[in-house]
Amino acid sequence: MFEKVLIANRGEIALRVLRACRELGIRTVAVHSTADAEAKYVKLADESVCIGPPASQSSYLNIPAIISAAEVTDAQAIHPGYGFLSENADFAERVEKSGFVFIGPKAETIRLMGDKVSAKSAMKEAGVPCVPGSEGALPEDPQQIVKIAREIGYPVIIKAAGGGGGRGMRVVHTEAALLNAVTMTRSEAQAAFGNPMVYMEKFLENPRHIEIQVLADNYRNAVWLSERDCSTQRRHQKVIEEAPAPGLHRRTIARIGERCAEACRRIGYRGAGTFEFLYENGEFYFIEMNTRVQVEHPVTELVTGIDIVSAQIRIAAGEKLWFRQRDVEIRGHAIECRICAEDPFKFTPSPGKIVNWHPPGGPGIRVDSHVYSGYTVPPHYDSMIAKLISYGETRDQAIRRMRIALSEMMVEGIKTNIPLHQDLLLDQNFIDGGASIHYLEEKLAAREEASRK
Ligand code: ADP
Repeated sequence: MFEKVLIANRGEIALRVLRACRELGIRTVAVHSTADAEAKYVKLADESVCIGPPASQSSYLNIPAIISAAEVTDAQAIHPGYGFLSENADFAERVEKSGFVFIGPKAETIRLMGDKVSAKSAMKEAGVPCVPGSEGALPEDPQQIVKIAREIGYPVIIKAAGGGGGRGMRVVHTEAALLNAVTMTRSEAQAAFGNPMVYMEKFLENPRHIEIQVLADNYRNAVWLSERDCSTQRRHQKVIEEAPAPGLHRRTIARIGERCAEACRRIGYRGAGTFEFLYENGEFYFIEMNTRVQVEHPVTELVTGIDIVSAQIRIAAGEKLWFRQRDVEIRGHAIECRICAEDPFKFTPSPGKIVNWHPPGGPGIRVDSHVYSGYTVPPHYDSMIAKLISYGETRDQAIRRMRIALSEMMVEGIKTNIPLHQDLLLDQNFIDGGASIHYLEEKLAAREEASRK
């Protein structure tokens, strides 16, 4: 096992990785920007290194600074968390070339999956069903583009090959709007991801977002750890996640889960990963793979009893998978609400000082958060301040526990989206389970409409 791991991230995931390291008896190095010098995980870490000013470009995305921090502290491995450099193949390569272990897949795998066009073709080859769409990237020729869209059938969605975080996507309903949308998505993609390549998919009208968590070791052993339903989204970003997916047959899930595990064996996948699918009319359609730990991993941990972050570290240290597929059992139900520092109605960020922080507790409640009373939420980063996770023997119990937890949770000094979650946890459509990815947007639009009257 490693003796020392550097955590190349911030916020709740830095604390989550730190806890996993401590449990494994590993010493930790926290790296931080000047804005995060007072963070809890920085104080809890065995060592800390300031890697730059607040702007992510100069700190959490600053590869040379992070590698020097690993050198001066003599860390053996680097955990990238999620976001920032976690899916940057060049970073993974630089880490390994500098003699450290990257806690994640091989750089070539990240590269393959990071380009959504190459990921889709690799998955097709591995027998994973994909959303119908263009064969690879869209050509330059406008007539060709029009032809492809006609073949797929409207509505279509134009997506950036290098996209992520719900950005770089545009839905097109009519031919008249097509070419302009392609041009705009291309230039946005160039600006945001440094890659103008775009592709086209059928826009599914009523799908759910269902994803499969996998774990694979260095020896081509792979297992899948149940599914998550992340259909409650706003602007293509997840708001609530749960496991298992309500109303889906275990056999249906097992079929797709097995395909994912097999795809991992074929491409020599290593570490934790997630296959994301849209699910409509009983069919799964692959959209992308995330080659890192995800924000929503706790719901899977609660229903399987498997510590995914600890597993990442053990796999990176060369351990062979210590359990088999038949050992993975799903028990109970878990729900996660992403608590963000934002206006619950307008969704504008609400950074600032938290003057009072009282997290909820009790049976079946887990809070993953780095904040505390007196903590100042910096304006420079993602607005998520906590993940509130409930567990119950049944979905109904998990919902009831979540409602109680939300009512107990006190965050004073800044605005949060807790009222939105409270509203959702009482929403009949959410309670029934199985709502589509468009449901929350429709609900918000209706709310907007009602408030104008
Ligand atoms: P990102 O990497 O930015 O998260 P994804 O490809 O995972 O992008 O898509 C994010 C979300 O966008 C999906 O969960 C879904 O809500 C929506 N989406 C993506 N592709 C489609 C599609 N073909 N039809 C309908 N919705 C889509």
